[in-house]
Amino acid sequence: MKLDELIDIGQHSMKHESPIVRRKSRQIMVGNVPVGGDAPIAVQSMTNTNTLDVNATVGQVRALEEAGADIVRVSVPSMDAAEAFGKIREQVSVPLVADIHFDHKIALRVAELGVDCLRINPGNIGREDRVSAVISAARDRNIPIRIGVNAGSLEKELQRKYGEPTADALVESAMRHIDILDRHDFQDFKVSLKASEVFMTVAAYRNLAAQIEQPLHLGITEAGGFRSGTVKSSIGLGMLLMDGIGDTIRVSLAADPVQEVKVGYDILKSLRLRSRGINFIACPSCSRQNFDVIQTMNDLEARLEDVNTAMDVAIIGCIVNGPGEAKVADIGLTGGSPKNLFYMAGKPNQKLDNANLTDDLERLIREEVARRKEEEDAIIARSGN
Ligand code: SF4
Repeated sequence: MKLDELIDIGQHSMKHESPIVRRKSRQIMVGNVPVGGDAPIAVQSMTNTNTLDVNATVGQVRALEEAGADIVRVSVPSMDAAEAFGKIREQVSVPLVADIHFDHKIALRVAELGVDCLRINPGNIGREDRVSAVISAARDRNIPIRIGVNAGSLEKELQRKYGEPTADALVESAMRHIDILDRHDFQDFKVSLKASEVFMTVAAYRNLAAQIEQPLHLGITEAGGFRSGTVKSSIGLGMLLMDGIGDTIRVSLAADPVQEVKVGYDILKSLRLRSRGINFIACPSCSRQNFDVIQTMNDLEARLEDVNTAMDVAIIGCIVNGPGEAKVADIGLTGGSPKNLFYMAGKPNQKLDNANLTDDLERLIREEVARRKEEEDAIIARSGN
């Protein structure tokens, strides 16, 4: 990226708009969620319960939906799991992707039971009649397919050809599956090309993005634990998203999948590609702080997790950076002595002392959230008349 482009991005960021120009992809529908085109970048996660345990899986799907997941993937490794998937499907409303490897009968069964997207690689299904049967079932029911290429499970032939997983090997694998769908004139698909290595993943997506028009599902696979996986995913996905590449994302973490959804939103929020809930701005604190910034920030984040309204809240320990950040945030707090200064819409609003600071801030933020909701409801009501 050139320096003037970077400066331009910096200027846009100050205005809180994303300067990212997204790649124009063909839109597909995963249930009622559009993926690609000008649709918001969808956030996904995957259940890690035993699919045969319908109650546990329904509970986790609902928790993911509550955290903001637009789409949830569920593993369907057997025919029994396909039947369980049908029962899960009946009990949740968020679109479900069935993750299937090799077995076309499972794909046909979940298609009957109401799946919203099939994650199956056509090249792994085997005989041509089986491939045709799956594609026909998907076409008849308007079910899109996700081709999911993973560096850990590349075809033997490609492993031999390339010696080890490479970006080109990932793309070649994807193109083989895509060619099969092309041959059947089936275009409602999206593709993922995941590796646990950031450079390989980024290079593979960049390459494929220039070759096809279908939406891309981004992810750094097996990224690691909560902290290391978050960093790796943020860098890899961030580079691609900055390029305008990516229509749906999944952050893979060896952690509670609900965290994957939260990190996914945080990545999109950082790039102003999507907003959900509070975007906190907080200083790291130092001896100049006039209140306990770290404690206040973390308490507020935990207490306000249920808030979906998009809002910038700046929690800054002193006047060095406080007024500047408060001016561009929706709500701000600047540490001061003997009292801290609370800002609304960039303007000083009232003084708050350190006793009950977190309670006071939570109350004031919730009041503003409620006010905005009322305003939104009024707009919706007016537009409905
Ligand atoms: S804003 Fe103030 S308290 Fe926070 S890190 Fe900077 S100087 Fe320290």
